[in-house]
Amino acid sequence: MTEKSLIDADQKKIDDITYNYNVICERIAQAAIKSGRNPEDIKFLAATKTVAPRYINHAISLGLSYIGENKVQELVQKYDSYDLNNCSLQFIGHLQTNKVRQIIDKVDLIQSVDSVKLAQEIASQSLKRGTITNILVEVNIGREENKSGVYVENLFDFLQKISRIDGISVQGLMTIPPICENKDEIRKIFKKMNQLFIDISAKKLDNIYMNCLSMGMSDDYYEAILEGATMVRIGSALFGARNYY
Ligand SMILES: *Cc1c(COP(=O)(O)O)cnc(C)c1O
Repeated sequence: MTEKSLIDADQKKIDDITYNYNVICERIAQAAIKSGRNPEDIKFLAATKTVAPRYINHAISLGLSYIGENKVQELVQKYDSYDLNNCSLQFIGHLQTNKVRQIIDKVDLIQSVDSVKLAQEIASQSLKRGTITNILVEVNIGREENKSGVYVENLFDFLQKISRIDGISVQGLMTIPPICENKDEIRKIFKKMNQLFIDISAKKLDNIYMNCLSMGMSDDYYEAILEGATMVRIGSALFGARNYY
C-alpha cells in the first residue's frame, strides 16, 4: 500500500468507529427504554482485543467509559498507551492464577472469576497493595465443558465461600452464553441469567452486591438489555471484524 492509501484506510477506520459508536449508543438507549430503564443505567464496555490503542483512544474520546481486555499479555503491552483518564479498564477473559499480579494494579474490575483459588489470589494481591478489587462471578449458563464459569447449581455455594474473603468485592455476574440458533433462544438464556441475578440480590448475602449484570455482545446486546443486562460488552460491532495474526 502507498502511504496515501494507508492514511486513507486509517481515517476510514476512525470514521467507521465514530459511526458505529453512535449507532450502538442509540440502540442501547432504545433497548433501555423498551425495558423500562434509563439509557444511562446501561454500561457500554468495548471489548478491545486485537484493537490498536489509537482506535481504542478514539472511542474513549467519543465518550466510551469502559474498556475490557481478555488477555493478560495484551493488556500489559497496551497499558501505557490507553487514555484512561475518563475510562475504566477491566479484565474480561479467562484469568490464570499465576498472572493475577501482572494486572492487579491496572484494572478496576475483573469480570471473569470462576474459582475460589482465583478469588483468593486476587484478594491476596489486592491486600498486598492495600486495595480491594471489584469482581464479577462468571456463570457458565450453558454448562459448556469447553467454557469457563461456575455452573448454576454451584453458584450459591460459590458466592457464600468467596463472600468471606477480604480483598475482593463481588459486584455482580457475567456470562458468555452458548451459540444460539435464534433470538428467542438467546433471550431465554438472558432471562435465566437475570432471574439468578434477582434471586441472589434478594438473598442479601454479606459482602455480595448485585450491581452489575454483564451480558450481551455485538450480535445480541439489544436482546440482553431487554432481558435485564446492566452492562454489554461489544467488540466487532464497534471496531469492525477482528484480524488475528
Ligand atoms: C471479544 C469479547 C466480547 C465481544 O465480542 P464481539 O462479538 O466482538 O462483540 C465480549 N466478551 C468477551 C469476554 C470477549 O472476549
